[in-house]
Amino acid sequence: MSHTKQAGAVVVHGGAGASVDHEDACVLAARRALGQLEVNGDALDAAIIAVTTLEDDGRLNAGSGAVLCLDGATVEMDASIMDTRGRLGAVACVQDVKNPVQLARAIADTPHWMLAGEGAQRFARAIGLPESLPLTERQRAEHRKLMAQMAGSVPVMPGVDNSVFGRIWNYNSPLELPEASACDTVGAVVRGPDGHFAVATSTGGSAPSLLGRVGDSPIIGSGFFAGPEGAVAATGIGEHIVRHLLARTVYGWIAEGMLLAQALQRGIDLFGKDVAVGLIAVSRQESGACSNRGMPQARMTQR
Ligand code: ASP
Repeated sequence: MSHTKQAGAVVVHGGAGASVDHEDACVLAARRALGQLEVNGDALDAAIIAVTTLEDDGRLNAGSGAVLCLDGATVEMDASIMDTRGRLGAVACVQDVKNPVQLARAIADTPHWMLAGEGAQRFARAIGLPESLPLTERQRAEHRKLMAQMAGSVPVMPGVDNSVFGRIWNYNSPLELPEASACDTVGAVVRGPDGHFAVATSTGGSAPSLLGRVGDSPIIGSGFFAGPEGAVAATGIGEHIVRHLLARTVYGWIAEGMLLAQALQRGIDLFGKDVAVGLIAVSRQESGACSNRGMPQARMTQR
């Protein structure tokens, strides 16, 4: 890898299908990431600051805004970090952690690359990471909306009959259908001024999902990837994204010399129109974003 001096760059997204009214959160996150690059030039620190900002926003499906599971009580979150200095960490299905991306970062300093469930939560407590904030009215309202959709006949998850979830139910409390499929993970990719790349993602998952469901966001090569030629983060329905190893596939095209915009569009074109999907990436010379739904985003370059 060459480490020639170049302008740092940051791209941040707030999830494929999320309201673009939330773009201000992405702008703030990208600004903070650029600010961090000025402090120490570390692409990973910058990506983590960006994702922490989005987790704390409360309007996006990550950290303090993570969607409630189908039981209306549980929140399970996934997150990941990776850079070209060899740091790699992920957390899956963790509950009661305010900033899962910081837990993923801490896991990168253990002998493991991923922790899941209760073990991940215990590790978070052991290193003193703050617990989740209390549930907000927005999270409860999103859950009510999902339940109403589940009671209808239009599939909430593309290609899957809503009644399937009643048959395979694995929560302690019974399914109570009442009375929009959530898809707004957050992510950041950064090119450091020293030529290193980093990526960070965080999500409350895609709704509807069973207890224990893990999407693409904490899976290397699917929801995220960083290598000597760039970094890529994906958002959208994880069950579809993993089948294409999307982040690594798009990274491969960029590394072969394809224009970044073309590589991102080719990645999006792998999916049918009913599957929400979005991508952000940085390469040596370029940065960009592409999605088949509205996707709040921000892109900034160091002067
Ligand atoms: N990819 C995430 C998941 O499937 C959801 C999202 O991007 O909004 O867990």
